[in-house]
Amino acid sequence: MTEGPESLAQLARRSVGAALTQPSTQSLPDAEYAALVTMVDQLRRGYPHQDLADSLETLTRGYELVATEYGLAAVEEALLIRYTRQKFFPHPSELREELESMKASERKAILAANPFRPCGLCEGGFVRVNADGTPFRGGSPAKTRLEECTCRVEWRRRVRGEVQPTITAAEAYRRRRRDLFA
Ligand SMILES: [Zn+2]
Repeated sequence: MTEGPESLAQLARRSVGAALTQPSTQSLPDAEYAALVTMVDQLRRGYPHQDLADSLETLTRGYELVATEYGLAAVEEALLIRYTRQKFFPHPSELREELESMKASERKAILAANPFRPCGLCEGGFVRVNADGTPFRGGSPAKTRLEECTCRVEWRRRVRGEVQPTITAAEAYRRRRRDLFA
């Protein structure tokens, strides 16, 4: 090999970029990436007995990939939760587990706060229609199918919309400034 060994993180960045048609979705914008690096550095100081010199770059890249999926602010929240619960620096897979668990409890809370109430004109959120989509008015149901009623479609849209991560970089920074690491 003529060049120096490529770090895992560099390799990951390169191969992800090469493998995907939209590599930008696999990287954070520069400002957010800088915030992530600061965050990881602060977290590292919270684990003073663990030597992370060799793995920090790869860990950071792993966190970056997770952050492109869940948003930086959510990642920071998850890292804080993990920090109070585990003795070793969280692996990106553990970070993802935490985020999934956060998402699940958020979803649960949203569903509890927005119970589905059928409009009363359908059967629990579904209507029976003929093959051509017109309402079924009786006769043989052999060629009918169930379609989701608009009341249920709207409800689904509503509860789904509320769980979508809609955190902008600016919001991530606002939250960062008042976080426990700062
Ligand atoms: Zn309905």
